[in-house]
Amino acid sequence: MKKGMLAVLTLVLATRPAAAAGPESAADPISDIRYDVSFDSETAARREIHVEMSFDVVDGSEVALSLPAWTPGSYELDNFARNVNDVWAREDGEEIRWDEQDYDTWRVYPTGAGRVTLAFDYTADQLDNGNAWSQPDFAFFNGTNLFLFPEDGDLGFHSEVVIHTEDGWRVTTGLTVGSAPREFIADSYHELVDMPTFVGRFDVDSLQIDGAWYRLATYPEGTMAGRAREVIWDQIQKMMPPMEDVFDVTPWDEYTTFMVFTPSFGGGAALEHSTSHLGIYNLNFRLSPTLASITAHEIFHGWNVKRLRPADMWPYDYGRAMPTPLLWISEGITDYYADLAMVRGGIESVDDFYGDTEAKITHANSTPPVALEDASVSTWIGPRDGTSSIYYDKGSLAGLMLDILIRDATNNTRSLDDVMKTMYERDYMQGRGFTNEEWWATVSEVAGGRPFRDFYDKYVDGREPYPWDRILPLVGLTLVTHTQKTPRIGISMRETDDGVSIAGVQPGSSAARAGVREGDLLISVAGIDGKDANFGLEFRAKLGGEDEGAPYDIVVERGGQQVTLPAALSFDTSTISVIQPDLTAGETALRVRNGLLTGTTGS
Ligand SMILES: [Zn+2]
Repeated sequence: MKKGMLAVLTLVLATRPAAAAGPESAADPISDIRYDVSFDSETAARREIHVEMSFDVVDGSEVALSLPAWTPGSYELDNFARNVNDVWAREDGEEIRWDEQDYDTWRVYPTGAGRVTLAFDYTADQLDNGNAWSQPDFAFFNGTNLFLFPEDGDLGFHSEVVIHTEDGWRVTTGLTVGSAPREFIADSYHELVDMPTFVGRFDVDSLQIDGAWYRLATYPEGTMAGRAREVIWDQIQKMMPPMEDVFDVTPWDEYTTFMVFTPSFGGGAALEHSTSHLGIYNLNFRLSPTLASITAHEIFHGWNVKRLRPADMWPYDYGRAMPTPLLWISEGITDYYADLAMVRGGIESVDDFYGDTEAKITHANSTPPVALEDASVSTWIGPRDGTSSIYYDKGSLAGLMLDILIRDATNNTRSLDDVMKTMYERDYMQGRGFTNEEWWATVSEVAGGRPFRDFYDKYVDGREPYPWDRILPLVGLTLVTHTQKTPRIGISMRETDDGVSIAGVQPGSSAARAGVREGDLLISVAGIDGKDANFGLEFRAKLGGEDEGAPYDIVVERGGQQVTLPAALSFDTSTISVIQPDLTAGETALRVRNGLLTGTTGS
């Protein structure tokens, strides 16, 4: 998952089945499982997707079926059952009894051997890449939203999916194509729910990169056309080789990038799957480097987290939260490799790479100190102190430090790439998740035996500031930090019919101490008209050079009266970090820097 300015994971894989699922035996409580999904202009008008799950039963034993609580990669409990309505159950066409075992589990009571169907409508109105969303001519959904699983069976079951829609509409999904149009198959439940689907009117095309097929499906039609489409395709072609070089293997024959563009989405956020990802973006992401960076991040997840995955999430359990202290590896290291793919692939310049790194350092410095492991675990509850997604940027910086330290320890003959490749082969390829101990043992081994216990204690389990003064010189770089003071009033405003209204006052701020209240109409601040479109800019320009505590007036209208509130100026302090090449850097540092930026090792 990746979200915010830009924002971004599953499982079992076609390339490496741990054990082939055999044909269902008579002992299976249910068999021959099929899901019929209907979305057309009629259901779209109700913003609903109709789902029917049908299966054979051998006797009248009750069957319990559940919907997932979350979509892997989206580390929050969404309880998709809350979007379910109009449930019914039939056996061979006759209504049968059903009830709820708990809030996301339904029980059906067959009357004997036969074919049972449990059906419901799913409200598809959540603009969230782990959920389902519809428009009059389009819908996307995740399998976790719609597909029930047997509560007491194993998840290795084979199933068939049939999508029913308008004749002229398209269906695109990563699921394996079946024997009929719009019929798909999945070899396990994990595979079934790991394949987001587009239904309706949208654009799709594909091309081959290094022997694998890449599809690009974009909604609405025409939004990613012409130059915007050419550019993202060019960027995808450039980002793939440096990512493939890390692992020496591309674990898919087909990969699908789904993109939804809508002005009602403020930023950009995407969610990874084994052979696809689904992103939702504001229209201003078209032609931005951020769109390419998110795309690289999500595709890298195809290796790191969808396949190479912390043991805490192996296998996925859809019914409960699965916190892991290693999420900084799955997300932060992935984001480091997205930055590397951008620079190694030539999509961005070296200076852009430094700029991305500077922004991450600035973000980490402006966030309360938090251990990477703690931030990884607590993302499930969305902490409100600013640390909820810091494991992306801070984890990415930890990846950069590890890469530098490994290359430095081995005279640039080994790198973090070797750690990723070794872990992938030792854990994922052996059909298991990895542990913290395995990670650090591999890091140390790749670094020629260099110990990392101290690094782990301080920067991963601990909260110490990162030691850029010691690390960056190893790659011939220095970090220059500037302190920036910005005058701040401490109010948020909203436009109303009556004028500009105070929507909120930050406790302890200059405005709070002056007595500004929520609901006041803002007339002026330091003589600057509250309705001025450049109000904030002008305030900072006018008072930026003053001293802390300098007097200024805030004029508001309250209860029909103008009130002048004397205020004392206060400043926010932030630090800006700039990475600069060290012109006196030695040969080894330059070799390590060049190796890191180009993805090469050797002396
Ligand atoms: Zn991610």
